[in-house]
Amino acid sequence: MEILKKLLAIDLNYILIGMMVIFYSLEQIINTQFKFIKRPQHLLNNVLFQIAFYVCNIFYATVTVFSIEWLNNHQVGFFYLVQVPVWIKLIAGVALLDMVSYWFHRMSHKVPLLWRFHRVHHSDTSMDASTNFRSHPIELLFWFGTSNIVASAIFGLDLLTLGLYFLVATPFFFLEHANLRFPTWVDKTFGLIFTTPNFHKIHHEQDQYYTDSNFSDIFILWDRIFGTFKYKPPEQIKFGLKEFESDKKQTFWYLMISPFINMARVTSEELKKGDKT
Ligand SMILES: [Zn+2]
Ligand SMILES: [Zn+2]
Repeated sequence: MEILKKLLAIDLNYILIGMMVIFYSLEQIINTQFKFIKRPQHLLNNVLFQIAFYVCNIFYATVTVFSIEWLNNHQVGFFYLVQVPVWIKLIAGVALLDMVSYWFHRMSHKVPLLWRFHRVHHSDTSMDASTNFRSHPIELLFWFGTSNIVASAIFGLDLLTLGLYFLVATPFFFLEHANLRFPTWVDKTFGLIFTTPNFHKIHHEQDQYYTDSNFSDIFILWDRIFGTFKYKPPEQIKFGLKEFESDKKQTFWYLMISPFINMARVTSEELKKGDKT
């Protein structure tokens, strides 16, 4: 428990910067899975999202910490009703935070208003580790903030569990978006329980049939249980969204205002018809 507390004391921003440097360098030197397009601009656009998030997070983090402490002080949630060892509570807590995040993510694909914000993350046509940063700051309020507070209220989770969740999820986020080749045996072994990079890349496929699948961040188990797991060979994936294909629509400023622009979502049928013409 002491080791865990020490690990959680490390500023998550250092972990983020360290991982970004490692993955950016690996993608630059190793034979990557997909071709890069204007890499420096791409990185700059995605890093600007992280800066915007950093500023907004001063507010999000305060609300989350205040809300979860309030819930804990009032002993709200399942784990206040049962007696279980702390380590079970921690492991189950991480899995349950991931499950609630799964449902919030799934909702973001289903509800048109939420999709307007979430599609920013899906807009990246040339994915790499920095795509992890590309999320609209308003979306993060709904998803990161609300999802974790809701999970804590239902299951009685505390800030230690939330800290552990971020510690586990962060490497997953980088691996899942990295422009690196991952062998399919990883999918056949770890992929029975965990979300592998190939599985998350399928989630970034242009075709809506695949975009609406593999929603889990850590445990692909949730997709398998709730019937949204899909597979496609990684080399056949085309990233992004048809409606965001032009260079102009890949800039930070355009993406920031894009939720307020009406854009019809291209369906699988329309995409197939378009490919034929
Ligand atoms: Zn998504
Ligand atoms: Zn993603």
